[in-house]
Amino acid sequence: MQDWLRERVYSGRLDERLAGKDVVVAGWVQEIRNLGGIAFIQLRDREGTVQLTALKRENRELFKALTTLNRESVVAVRGLVQPNKEAPGGLEVLPGELDVLSPAAAPLPMGVVDKVGVELDTRLNARFIDLRRPGSAAVFRIRSSALRGIRSQFEQEGFVEVHTPKIVATATEGGTALFPVQYFEHRAFLNQSPQLFKQMLMATGFDRVYEIGPAFRAELHDTVRHLNEFTSIDIEMAFSDEEGAMGVLERCLQSAVKRVIEERPRELGALGLTLEVPSLPFPRLTYTKCIELANSKGIDVEWGADLEMDATKAVAEETEGFYFITRWPTAIKPFYAHPFEDKPRESRSFDLMFGEKEITSGAQRVHEPDLLVQRLRDQGLDPGSFDFYLQAFRFGMPPHAGWGLGAERTVMILTGRDNVRDCVLFPRDRRRLSP
Ligand code: ATP
Ligand code: MG
Repeated sequence: MQDWLRERVYSGRLDERLAGKDVVVAGWVQEIRNLGGIAFIQLRDREGTVQLTALKRENRELFKALTTLNRESVVAVRGLVQPNKEAPGGLEVLPGELDVLSPAAAPLPMGVVDKVGVELDTRLNARFIDLRRPGSAAVFRIRSSALRGIRSQFEQEGFVEVHTPKIVATATEGGTALFPVQYFEHRAFLNQSPQLFKQMLMATGFDRVYEIGPAFRAELHDTVRHLNEFTSIDIEMAFSDEEGAMGVLERCLQSAVKRVIEERPRELGALGLTLEVPSLPFPRLTYTKCIELANSKGIDVEWGADLEMDATKAVAEETEGFYFITRWPTAIKPFYAHPFEDKPRESRSFDLMFGEKEITSGAQRVHEPDLLVQRLRDQGLDPGSFDFYLQAFRFGMPPHAGWGLGAERTVMILTGRDNVRDCVLFPRDRRRLSP
């Protein structure tokens, strides 16, 4: 590496003010057009591309070195900035020195600029190349800004960031959708959710915690919404109910959208999207109302059943953007969802929806230990195997509420992608474990 590489500027920072000056640019050789005496090379970096214009008569050796490179080789160039109306961006760089940092092999596993559509599987197999494409990369820059927006909302509202174990002894919900791992002489599991741990933290006095971390589910689904490893954005807040938790959630999503609009205009452009900041509060519909709506549209679903896609589609037709479905039947929500005191077959639970898709589940939780044991039994679970969790409820546990928001499903909405696999760098699904 040459010392002058330290002076590197991104293509996006080049403008007329630099005309006549020497600059250093570095990146991937996207395209080479050699016309014999003159060659045009498009060099790509994270902000876009810059044209290098090489003249054979100026420097034969450099001309040859540049024009014989394989596409996607990584180079650094030091050269003179010059205005050129024909060049993309109105500027070109006349290379004076070249440093080939990493020659690329040929052929490439997939093209970067080819206009032809590439299958998702091909893209995921060659993800490191796929992410050189502005559209694919845009998703992850948007993801980064959205998470920043959510985090800053948490910080503003007094949440403490925590990290809970991912190797655990018991299931969160007693389900069977767990990946077993060998933990020395014990059988352990990868955690499907931080639920039990974040609730235990409500007995500590932290009051408000959040965690952004992986969740593992050994579900056999093969859908465009399910991954076997996803990133869960979780909160738990003490001295609060489901309304308090819903308020934090809608403010977080509003903050995420604002950040994306502020920080990622170029990426939104690359995806052909314009986002609008959602106004608050998000509409709230009760589960009962959703059943009525679905029934009125001829969908056969009874009170007490889960809302399948056809039902949520029927509801989505009546709403726009984000909305909450509240007051779910207690029997179909997890044991920790708090029943309404005056109507125990309904719970203080909610899902946040966008169109027909669920992106969050949350609730006020059961904080009374006796009721919690009862709820575990009602759901066919053995309170004995939840002892470590139940202990935290017996020595002073305030009422609390919280939710879990799927990062990838949120990114799907913000980027308009149809497949959740587009919103995670290296998806883990039923068929994919590598890369
Ligand atoms: P679904 O009914 O869509 O399978 P769920 O109700 O089982 O989801 P929860 O346990 O409520 O999911 O998890 C909270 C949030 O985490 C979901 O709303 C979703 O955004 C996200 N999530 C859950 N499972 C997955 C998954 N397999 N892949 C991606 N995201 C997921
Ligand atoms: Mg759910």
